[in-house]
Amino acid sequence: MTLDQHGPVVVVGAGQAGALLALYLARQGHDVTIYESRPDLRRVDIDAGRSINLALATRGIVPLVDVGVIESVDAITIPMKGRMIHAVGDPTPDLQPYGTRPHEVIHSVSRSDLNAILLDAAEATGRVDVRFETALSSVDFERSLLHFDDETSEPFGVVFGTDGAGSRVRRSMLDHARTTGREMAAETEWLDHDYKELTLPPDPETGTFQLDPNALHIWPRGEFMLIALANPEGDFTVTLFAPKSSFEQLATPAAVVAFFDEHFADFAAMVPDLADQFFENPTGPLGTMRASGWSIDDRAVILGDAAHAIVPFHGQGMNLAMESVRSLDQHLRSSPDDIAAAFRAFEADRKPNADAIADMALGNYIEMRAGVIDPDYLAKRNLALDLESRHPTHLSPRYNMVMFSTMPYAEAKERAERQAALLADIVSGDHDDVAIDSLVQALPPLPELDPLADPDALSVA
Ligand SMILES: Cc1cc2nc3c(=O)[nH]c(=O)nc-3n(C[C@H](O)[C@H](O)[C@H](O)COP(=O)(O)OP(=O)(O)OC[C@H]3O[C@@H](n4cnc5c(N)ncnc54)[C@H](O)[C@@H]3O)c2cc1C
Repeated sequence: MTLDQHGPVVVVGAGQAGALLALYLARQGHDVTIYESRPDLRRVDIDAGRSINLALATRGIVPLVDVGVIESVDAITIPMKGRMIHAVGDPTPDLQPYGTRPHEVIHSVSRSDLNAILLDAAEATGRVDVRFETALSSVDFERSLLHFDDETSEPFGVVFGTDGAGSRVRRSMLDHARTTGREMAAETEWLDHDYKELTLPPDPETGTFQLDPNALHIWPRGEFMLIALANPEGDFTVTLFAPKSSFEQLATPAAVVAFFDEHFADFAAMVPDLADQFFENPTGPLGTMRASGWSIDDRAVILGDAAHAIVPFHGQGMNLAMESVRSLDQHLRSSPDDIAAAFRAFEADRKPNADAIADMALGNYIEMRAGVIDPDYLAKRNLALDLESRHPTHLSPRYNMVMFSTMPYAEAKERAERQAALLADIVSGDHDDVAIDSLVQALPPLPELDPLADPDALSVA
């Protein structure tokens, strides 16, 4: 069966995955209806004045180049050249560059501005109709009907579930699998840590940034950390990640002020309404959702956070989601007459990679909150960067393979494990330069970058 043969092509959820997917499907010549539970973020300020930003890296940039929106995205991104470490008691933060090449930077981008660009582009095809404030409640696969919270229903032929980590499309597919004896599973592993977003406002006198905007700021404190990413308006979105037990102790304004004064004094001094913000803004949970059985024949498929939600410590959830959308587009193009086969091939291709980045994202939390101030970690990181400049075709640090390459995540994870053993051996062993060079040259060559991974796609200064 082809995509249109059953009836309406429907996408549920107009986040980054849903909006990008609708654009890709429209470019294949399909008419698409998106149902989105929230109001149109281009007309209503959904975040109530707060600007929430994300780190965009190579895997997310490639699909944006592919669908032709990269120039608009360039206008709303801020390059971040490295981690700016705010160590305890050190008044001068220290920049740890991400890489040695000019394009090895990540980009701070507003979640809603990026979404607006994708929605505009999708609608501009003339093939995408977005129905906002229409929350799906369930999918009835027997009668090919979508049911909504307002008790209306609409028919569908194929449904793409891009409705995020708490996906109702996924829940309906699980119900369907249970009653029909199909194989499908979804499990969320919650972290014992939560997060809270805060805003570091612009300097009240000058209206400009209070910190260097071209870095990702980290206040690593061992068990917990604060991070900050710049927004074009001169403010920073700041996130506290900490154990649930720490959040429980921050129950009064006095406790919040004392906590920030003790651990993040330089930050606290720049945010006069810190305690108010702390109690106004929600505390969010952090979890990894792994699912299997992402599709039902040629009727439904989940993607983005609905299929693979990961913790945010590698800044990859959206990048992974957008890379997955492009992969699905390619599978649909290679198998236009057998959609069920395209969906199965898509899962076979993407699931091992989603699992690999889920693991690496968990590992990167420890690196960010503790590793970046650990002399042993720093020695290995600097050694890896040095070996990369000497052997650019054979070795690349793990962070760089995830952020600046398009090699499958599973390959990046495997290579990183092998490289970690090699770095440990070099640091603790007694190898001369010739021996080190031959150890590195014995690694398999790094794969080529995707041809669309243009290093000049986004401005780096
Ligand atoms: C604190 C934090 C920081 C992060 N930082 C980064 C980062 O730096 N870089 C990065 O790459 N990723 C980051 N992520 C991850 C990233 O936000 C997600 O992976 C990404 O947004 C997933 O996109 P999506 O479209 O799959 O899901 P979502 O963005 O969640 O979109 C789902 C859409 O579906 C809609 N929806 C939900 N339910 C229904 C329903 N029943 N009916 C209709 N519509 C519905 C929602 O309103 C929403 O618009 C971060 C996540 C968190 C929590």
